[in-house]
Amino acid sequence: MPDPLLVPVFDGHNDTLTRIYGAQGAEHSSFLDRGASGHLDLPRAREAGLVGGFCAIFAPSPNYELTEQPVLGDDGEAIPGRWTVALPPKLDRRSAYAFTLSVMSELFRMVERSDGEVEVVRSASDLERCVEAGTFAIILHIEGAEALDTRLETLDLFYEAGLRSLGPVWSRPNAFGHGVAFDFPGHPDVGAGLTAAGRRLVKRCNELGVLVDLSHLNARGFWDVAKISNAPLVATHSNAHALCPSPRNLTDAQLDIVALSGGLVGLNYAVSFLRADGQERSETGISEIAKHARYIADRIGVRHVGLGSDFDGAMIPSDLGGVTGLPQLLHALRNVGFSETEVRSIAYDNWIRVLRDTWGA
Ligand SMILES: [Zn+2]
Repeated sequence: MPDPLLVPVFDGHNDTLTRIYGAQGAEHSSFLDRGASGHLDLPRAREAGLVGGFCAIFAPSPNYELTEQPVLGDDGEAIPGRWTVALPPKLDRRSAYAFTLSVMSELFRMVERSDGEVEVVRSASDLERCVEAGTFAIILHIEGAEALDTRLETLDLFYEAGLRSLGPVWSRPNAFGHGVAFDFPGHPDVGAGLTAAGRRLVKRCNELGVLVDLSHLNARGFWDVAKISNAPLVATHSNAHALCPSPRNLTDAQLDIVALSGGLVGLNYAVSFLRADGQERSETGISEIAKHARYIADRIGVRHVGLGSDFDGAMIPSDLGGVTGLPQLLHALRNVGFSETEVRSIAYDNWIRVLRDTWGA
């Protein structure tokens, strides 16, 4: 049974499955065992009160490393505090599909080995039952729809296998839309909106009850989803652009429409999406996450704020360290004035409400 003293925490985004089961050539370690590295595994989640989360499968681009290039001024000198990042080209569908199947199958084997300790949940009721029983609840999420065909046949199959959340794009372009780059400072209004296939994808996700994740999508794509979708708008791992002008963060206008739709923003712990200067510095304080929580809650209401760690996908504050730092994060939320009820709603209740509204029962 879960420790009744711990505030239950639900996580909107982590890359732990991809780290553990997608590592090329590496020994496949298991989520079930305590790891010496990485941000998250089952034993550490239990200690910290993490009851479950969206676990992403992300097919990487081969031979691509995200590197910042300086932006040069008219005098040919690098402008301090500004940089640009080249995105990889489109990923071919075959390799994305093979990668996704392989990580999915490792996930289901791990669940089988877990002997009831871990479950892939397919409904909000499943999720609540798991949390009640102390079973770690995984929402299967695909980050970037490269593995899907544009007739969406694969989507139906993945749905039957348990897929309940999908980001149409990671930052690189694909058959469904365009993502944001990682330029700094930068605005999400770059590139065209959803393709015809992307618009079909959103409609089909609505029909099936698959959450459409807006994180990584560019502004035109975001507003296309806002127009088409009949579900709450959700950005699983993004912060406030007003505090950190990264194109990965949401502008005030985007935050407003998320609230109008009854949706949610999952706070991302990546230091480069938290800091006003966008720098990758691990000494960034946990309080920066609480600042974004405060800003978004003050603008659109605390019921539209959740957590979306980006564990195992980004550099996070070293004081947080990983999942074991969650109690300190909750403390930081109390320090910026959130009541105990509000802390619980950010950590857990808001996610449950939005998932119920998105998936149905
Ligand atoms: Zn991401």
